[in-house]
Amino acid sequence: MRLNHKVALITGVGSGIGRESALLFAREGAQIVGVDLNPETGEKTRQDIVQAGGQAIFIQADVSRHSDAMRMVEAAEESFGRLDILFNNAGISHAQDDDAIHTPEEVWDLTFQVNVKGVFLGCKYGIPALRRAGGGSVINTASFVALLGAATPQLAYTASKGAVLAMSRELAVIHAREGIRVNALCPGPLETELLMKYLDTPQKRQRRLVHIPMGRFGQAKEIARAALYLASDESSFVTGSTFLVDGGITAAYVTPE
Ligand code: NAD
Repeated sequence: MRLNHKVALITGVGSGIGRESALLFAREGAQIVGVDLNPETGEKTRQDIVQAGGQAIFIQADVSRHSDAMRMVEAAEESFGRLDILFNNAGISHAQDDDAIHTPEEVWDLTFQVNVKGVFLGCKYGIPALRRAGGGSVINTASFVALLGAATPQLAYTASKGAVLAMSRELAVIHAREGIRVNALCPGPLETELLMKYLDTPQKRQRRLVHIPMGRFGQAKEIARAALYLASDESSFVTGSTFLVDGGITAAYVTPE
């Protein structure tokens, strides 16, 4: 029970990392405030937690809207009395995101609305709640692409994750003496809906796998376990980190055959 008596707000709980983290955090004793744009998948995660004996509420919200961000934090404090863990995880990767020449301006703006402004608004309303609880842990999902360039471009997505990484670092410094830790979780390429909808042929998958020393995509469960460490008091001296969980991709020059 590594999160006993803690209240965790997790965005993007309908799928992938957010769903696996919500299920895992609940098994570890946390009360879950699950947030997603999609009411069906978000509610399904809530039901699965409750069926397994955990405690959870689901809030349908768009993290890029300030009124929704405010409402999700209020719901945490109203339902469970406090907020200890803020996991700003929801993010999008748009099908038309490309290089500078071909990325439509609307796609750039939408990507920044969700991936950057969404994290900002989560912190804007969530950090005061963590303060009221006497401290806490903020985890913002960035990506390995905040550190590596790819010749298979998604320029808006990459730039947005660079912004999440820089924002998290600065927030960590600002709030370090208030008992609020802020870390940027940087997953490598994962076998989730977000990536696999593009990698729909063996050739496209192999184009990426050749760069991953471990020779496979990560699983959302493996990222959830890293998030659990950052959420728990076991990481009490970890703040401002670029927390890579990437199968070695950022360490590699030549990978094994
Ligand atoms: P996913 O697509 O499986 O899940 C994302 C969830 O976020 C979905 O349930 C979706 O409905 C929700 N969501 C989208 N926009 C929202 C909004 N405006 N408000 C509220 N909820 C919203 O994705 P995932 O792979 O689990 O990705 C989670 C995070 O991890 C994202 O920030 C993503 O950029 C990041 N990431 C993913 C990978 C990867 O390879 N999958 C790698 C690095 C980082």
